[in-house]
Amino acid sequence: MQHLIIVGSTGSIGNSTLDIVRQHPDRFCVAALAAGSNSDLLIKQALEFRPQLVHIAAPDRYQQVRDALVSEGIEVLSGQEELQQLPSRSKGGTLVNAIVGNRGLAVVVNAIEAGKRICLANKEPLVSAGRLVRKLLERHQVQLLPIDSEHSAILQCIQGEDPRQIRRIILTASGGTFRGRRSLSGITPAEALNHPNWSMGNKITIDSATLMNKGLELIEAYWLYPVTADRIDIVIHPQSIVHSLVEFNDGSMKAQLGLPDMRIPIQYALTFPEHLDLKMDRLDLAAIGTLTFEEPDEQLFPSLRIAREALQRGGTYPAALNAANEAAVELFLKGQIEFTGIFQLIEETLANHTSIENYTLEDIFALDEEIHSQLVAS
Ligand code: NDP
Ligand code: MG
Repeated sequence: MQHLIIVGSTGSIGNSTLDIVRQHPDRFCVAALAAGSNSDLLIKQALEFRPQLVHIAAPDRYQQVRDALVSEGIEVLSGQEELQQLPSRSKGGTLVNAIVGNRGLAVVVNAIEAGKRICLANKEPLVSAGRLVRKLLERHQVQLLPIDSEHSAILQCIQGEDPRQIRRIILTASGGTFRGRRSLSGITPAEALNHPNWSMGNKITIDSATLMNKGLELIEAYWLYPVTADRIDIVIHPQSIVHSLVEFNDGSMKAQLGLPDMRIPIQYALTFPEHLDLKMDRLDLAAIGTLTFEEPDEQLFPSLRIAREALQRGGTYPAALNAANEAAVELFLKGQIEFTGIFQLIEETLANHTSIENYTLEDIFALDEEIHSQLVAS
């Protein structure tokens, strides 16, 4: 029986994780749940899954959640520090990190230090502090399994293979809502939030539309797998059926295919290396008929170049990239900047950035705050 600590339980990944728990009551139970502000759903989830601990980030929702759950014997917490310490305070052995943004970094660090297994959807911490997270994982002998579908695909492709024989990782990208466009001017948040294949939270949907999601995933893949940055390629695959590929030294390629449903990679992370039953539609290749692949348009979408450069420059460049992107997406969703302004803000931030080579966690937290207040407050 795996006892799960699910942070971000009210979001897209969080809900899919709970669906898996529902399907396998003999394998999983919930030890802790954490949400941002959706108190009604959090209460409903807590009453169904009976965790020992519940955390609500929004201070004005704390009383409501407490009133609803305290008589049920469920402890209710709030506050930033309490969220960060949720893994070590909980009896659960596995953290499912489904929170959005780099606020998940402190939670990951706490979980590693407490020796919990990590199933990671929240890619931003690996982007901003990959070297530190890797070091901590090694020091505490903790396993981190990716939930991101591309990285789960790679994990599946390399099972039983010698890492030295991997020549290249190829991440697939849907191309987002604006694939094939000649211009990106005048795009509204509502248009950008309309993803063709995946149903996801707002931030990652905008990241997919700008292709920055793939830039972040390139950095994520670099920290997860034994390849140098120049051996991670991106190919556009509009059907989102091939989730990624690995090429070996002899030119042979392995790919992982599946419907675009995050329950598959979430469950694989939870049960690795097992493929447990999962009740959902099955992939019908004949019904799909055609799978296509094309080069990304790096002229119109500069995200891949920006991410590659940040990774090559190293130090805190990827953290600055991630922080600027989070702030820029927030501004775009509020209607305060243009869609193309996202690229501009990120490039300006990186151009003005003074990198710290051997950064600490405190450096990353300070950088996040500094960039957020500079961009969002200005
Ligand atoms: P959602 O926006 O759907 O969910 C985000 C979750 O984080 C919600 O439960 C939200 O709570 C919670 N949250 C937001 N702010 C805070 C806060 N200040 N404190 C505590 N909790 C907070 O996002 P997704 O599920 O789509 O994505 C989650 C992560 O997974 C992201 O990093 C994304 O990049 C990654 N990912 C997502 C995929 C997907 O298919 N959705 C695919 C691959 C990766 P509430 O709603 O209650 O405010
Ligand atoms: Mg992905």
